[in-house]
Amino acid sequence: MIPLNPRLARAPEPAGVQAAKRYCIWTIGCQMNEAESAKAAAMLSQAGYLQTHLEEEADVIIVNSCVVRQAAEDKVAGKLGSLARLKRVRPDVRIALTGCMVTGQEQALAERFPHVDLFYGPSQFERLVEIAPELAHVDTDLAELPHFYQPDAAGSDVTAFVPIIYGCNFVCSYCIVPYRRGRERSRPMAEVIAEVERLAERGVKEVTLLGQTVNAYGHDLPGSPDLADLLTAVNEIPGIERIRFLTSHPKYMSDRIVQAVATLPKACEHINLPVQAGDDEVLRRMRRTYTVDFYRERIAYIRETIPGVTVSTDIIVGFPGETEEQFQRTLDLLAELRLDKVHVAMYSPRPRTLSARWEDDIPWDEKRRRHQAVEKLQAQILGERNRGYLGATFEILVDGMAKGRWRGRTRGNDLVFFEAPGDWKGKFVDVRITEASPWYLLGEPVAVRDHARAGVERVV
Ligand code: SAH
Ligand code: SF4
Repeated sequence: MIPLNPRLARAPEPAGVQAAKRYCIWTIGCQMNEAESAKAAAMLSQAGYLQTHLEEEADVIIVNSCVVRQAAEDKVAGKLGSLARLKRVRPDVRIALTGCMVTGQEQALAERFPHVDLFYGPSQFERLVEIAPELAHVDTDLAELPHFYQPDAAGSDVTAFVPIIYGCNFVCSYCIVPYRRGRERSRPMAEVIAEVERLAERGVKEVTLLGQTVNAYGHDLPGSPDLADLLTAVNEIPGIERIRFLTSHPKYMSDRIVQAVATLPKACEHINLPVQAGDDEVLRRMRRTYTVDFYRERIAYIRETIPGVTVSTDIIVGFPGETEEQFQRTLDLLAELRLDKVHVAMYSPRPRTLSARWEDDIPWDEKRRRHQAVEKLQAQILGERNRGYLGATFEILVDGMAKGRWRGRTRGNDLVFFEAPGDWKGKFVDVRITEASPWYLLGEPVAVRDHARAGVERVV
């Protein structure tokens, strides 16, 4: 038995005061998880709960899990382990586990984590009532509550994530997502638009439309609208000033969607287009369904169609059988394309996937070396790119503060910080860049507006 830790004891409530219950949400993984955590938070707030960032003072704790890589899964297990200790001290606390760890695994998880009161799969918000009975008395149609995004303690309603398509119809050989999130299901356009309108009414200025294959949106809906149609409709919503979307699959990156981004004033000039590898044989074994040349051609089309566009990508290093030459081709591709952001991951075998049947033959040290080689190359590319921005002015939307500085993103999704007294949150600020590192830009504000500059270019 672990001795009672006084830090874990709750402070007594003042006599006569009916204490509001508190909830705490721990999230790891993709933006879809962040969106779903934010929705759970909005629901619990509606039911009268207060948010806390201290697990020890929460009545309800939600752990939103990710299993896309072993490292994420290990962190979730670590978190659940520490909550077991809390539960021994405060048996009244209600703990829920959601996210991709749960799908189809409820039985095994219940045995492994007996202190967890509720397991619910992605999007099964209605199950939350089992540990938060007050949700039964909330009038609002819970499914209709917007997905707020609250990235910091102060809570931000400047930017929000909006899921538009769930699941994935691809079967990339390394990927667990289709097994945990099912086949593609698009939300009807009217439902998405209604949600974005509600967000706009609450002051949200930027929405990011989400999906594992966001640009596959609509093929399963009556009349088969596509992402270009949805972007066009969201572009009309008053109050929304910026629109983003992720993650796009190269195979679905149609000319129509690229042209919509180029012509719609609110669509930001940023495309997230994972390539995963720079070698055709590796791509074939990854079951990515395209070649390096196909990807190259899409990037060229995106760049010639959308002036000032930035492109981000995902890379997996150390895929089974990836030779040194094949890895070198990934580096060569990145050096050739000079993309604006690269998320690099070391391969990890995942249950049920095809590649998990193949030997995970690249040693960890070698994966690490390849990971560092990609990061080093990208740091060099971005260092050069960002030095070129010195003296340029970007319009950013300020979404909050970080370490005493105001923080915002350019339309191209680059992070910019500046120091200034006053409240700048939710403002569109022209920032002149004075300092540049590969990872972010620092600058000084030269103009401020409540609304985005009309017909703004990425560099103003
Ligand atoms: N739908 C997106 C990615 C979803 S998963 C796409 O098609 O690209 C997010 C990222 O996690 C992937 O882009 C990939 O780089 C990484 N990833 C997925 N499975 C992985 C695995 N088994 N090992 C390492 N990284 C993985
Ligand atoms: Fe996973 Fe591939 Fe689907 Fe992306 S497209 S979620 S990597 S299976």
